[in-house]
Amino acid sequence: MSVTQQQVLDVLGRIKSPRGVALTNADVLSVISASDGKVFFSINVDAAEARAWESVRAEAEAAVRAMPGVTTAMVALTAERKPGAAPPPPPPPAAGRTQGVQPAAAHKHPHPPGAASPMSRQAEITGVAAVIAVASGKGGVGKSTTALNLALGLRDLGLKVGLLDADIYGPSVPRLTGLRDKPELNAERKMIPLRRFGLAIMSIGFLVEEETAMIWRGPMVMSAVTQMLRDVDWGKLDVLVVDMPPGTGDAQLTLAQNVPLKGAVIVSTPQDLSLIDARRGLAMFKKVNVPVLGIVENMSYFQCPHCGTKSDIFGHGGARHEADKLGVPFLGEIPLHMAIRSTSDAGNPVVDSEPDGPHAAIYRAIAGGVRDQLKGAISVA
Ligand code: ADP
Repeated sequence: MSVTQQQVLDVLGRIKSPRGVALTNADVLSVISASDGKVFFSINVDAAEARAWESVRAEAEAAVRAMPGVTTAMVALTAERKPGAAPPPPPPPAAGRTQGVQPAAAHKHPHPPGAASPMSRQAEITGVAAVIAVASGKGGVGKSTTALNLALGLRDLGLKVGLLDADIYGPSVPRLTGLRDKPELNAERKMIPLRRFGLAIMSIGFLVEEETAMIWRGPMVMSAVTQMLRDVDWGKLDVLVVDMPPGTGDAQLTLAQNVPLKGAVIVSTPQDLSLIDARRGLAMFKKVNVPVLGIVENMSYFQCPHCGTKSDIFGHGGARHEADKLGVPFLGEIPLHMAIRSTSDAGNPVVDSEPDGPHAAIYRAIAGGVRDQLKGAISVA
């Protein structure tokens, strides 16, 4: 038995807004996505009232989750600040959780230069020493493949590692890891990440259909990612690798601004176009005071799977040159190789399936470069 939109609305009609109006009459609900027992929607409110709405959000989520036939319910609170209105107060530092209220406001009012880093407003994630982003200026450059293999490289260096697939527009971690299960909830109703290859893994793809993700607007994306960060029982991690949505638009900027990032890795292919995009990525992180840990050149050269000959079909070396010019570290170059593609697409990432091979060594070297830069944040040998 699967629940319908109308059944969800019937339940929400019994929940009251902070002003005592039925939720269904308060003009705050997004379109409700209900398919296959998975329900997702957002409550869109004025930022000034967002605090008061958090308990309503929690009540709505609990009520929908309790409906027969519902396997997953995720309710995001998104807050749009009215032009000219005062910013919402920052969350209390000890809260350890955010209510998903700041992001949209930050999105409308970029951090003014010279003010304190927006990250100082961000509560750290309990138990997680360092959160890093893997980003790219555009899709299809191998960002997700790099994020997963980098996470595995960090694991091989003896670190406890998690992977959060925040690529809301096209979550690929279910494909790259072969994981399809739904996360269970712990006693505190936090989601327990799935485990594979020794990593704690969470993806929006475990929760909603891909088509649902495609229609999300920026603030909804932010709220969903914030909840995946905070409402997941990550346990103790040295590094949480966040696979960002590709691009440098508002949603990405807001994410970069509101996730407590210790640094970012930019993935680029050697083609000029994607280097231009990579430069935009660098600028974006600079704007929000997130240090760029370095650039990775993916599909750097073609390596023949039969004879091992290297061909620089894309004009290899552009990213290294660009990194030098921009004064950011160059972390390494990964060849375009069948083994990387086939292992990725079969859910057996190359660092795990061919640990003694040349590609695993490259990813581990990149991971070493990242680890070295995080030394202040994580306790490493
Ligand atoms: P993105 O996250 O940037 O959209 P993906 O990681 O999903 O990109 O990669 C896109 C495609 O390219 C996938 O089929 C993946 O297997 C393949 N791919 C990524 N990196 C490499 C590589 N170095 N060599 C060969 N194929 C690769």
